[in-house]
Amino acid sequence: MTADKLLSLLHGVKRTGPGRYVSLCPAHEDKHPSLAIRELEDGRVLLHDFAGCATSDVLAAVGLTLEDLFPEQHAASGSAKERRPFYAVDILRCVAFEALVCSIAATNLAQGVPLSESDRKRLLVAASRLQAATEIYDE
Ligand SMILES: [Zn+2]
Repeated sequence: MTADKLLSLLHGVKRTGPGRYVSLCPAHEDKHPSLAIRELEDGRVLLHDFAGCATSDVLAAVGLTLEDLFPEQHAASGSAKERRPFYAVDILRCVAFEALVCSIAATNLAQGVPLSESDRKRLLVAASRLQAATEIYDE
């Protein structure tokens, strides 16, 4: 399978560089692109959903499986891990909405509006997504 086929199944796709894209995640209610897609020169396709969906769930939502991502010649050979699979700016695009969530909560608190239980949980989600974004690079 090529990245083109995957991209044709996704919504809100934006090309951010050669072989690099972001899109809405098909596996959850995604209003801001949280999925980063990278096509490597050897034909492999890497995906990461910064909202936390597993790659297998993202693929299942568009009727694909993990095997579809890897051309057959690479399945057996075991492929080199990409140290920096995604642009930092793409990761930022994918998590920028989380900063907005935090700033809205901060504004409410500053105006004396208490956090509801669901607001508090959403802030924890924002913190864990931001933390996960820092872990995408293998240092
Ligand atoms: Zn998702």
